[in-house]
Amino acid sequence: MNTRDDRSAMVRTQLEQRGIRDSQVLDAMAYVPRHLFVPEAARRRAYGDHALPINEGQTISQPFIVALMAQALRLAPRERVLDIGTGSGYAAAVLSLLVGEVYTIERKPALAEEAERRLHQLGYTNVHVITGDGTLGLPEYAPYDGIAVSAAAPWVPLPLRQQLGEGGRLVIPVGGRDTQLLLRLTRTNHQIYTERLGEVRFVPLLGAHAWQPAGSSIPADDEPAPDARP
Ligand code: SAH
Repeated sequence: MNTRDDRSAMVRTQLEQRGIRDSQVLDAMAYVPRHLFVPEAARRRAYGDHALPINEGQTISQPFIVALMAQALRLAPRERVLDIGTGSGYAAAVLSLLVGEVYTIERKPALAEEAERRLHQLGYTNVHVITGDGTLGLPEYAPYDGIAVSAAAPWVPLPLRQQLGEGGRLVIPVGGRDTQLLLRLTRTNHQIYTERLGEVRFVPLLGAHAWQPAGSSIPADDEPAPDARP
């Protein structure tokens, strides 16, 4: 397996040919060793055009979706990004090459620990992994220039809207448990403008401001805002 050639082919056929144009995003996708973010058994398929299973019943997103979200965030070098749903840490690694700092939140401690270890070993020093409920955002470091959510939400969690800085972009899949619309919300002049980027499929976002984890009796407390609905 020649991973560098596999990555170039991935960038050409899965990203460029499908309209990913941002050269920084293409460079980041060509650089990050995706095969080191997937379980040993799936390594051969790491550069395929699909999502792959990681531990704890979760998935690492399809390369095209990672690139599409990164491009949609319109990031600039010194910006700060909040990434929700660390999973393997792959998307956080890609984002870390585009901005100053990445704060990434994962609700499953085992995944967070593994991702943190991996990112550290690979030298991604500007990624900070936090274990917790990402639907609450991370008020300590808010506001953010970009927020990426890589799990499917029933609506846009209120804390995330609140932690978006002026000019900030929030990219999030919103919809049902099976399919969702990828949305980009942009905050300008204290208003939030929403665009639809296409249909996607993610594992559910589970937390206080999204779907309720099994066994939880706490009701979701935010009303779906009119512009949060697809
Ligand atoms: N971006 C990841 C893939 C994400 S899969 C990668 O590059 O590998 C979605 C992840 O979101 C799963 O790991 C899941 O455990 C996590 N997740 C679901 N709800 C969450 C929440 N409320 N806060 C943080 N992480 C959450």
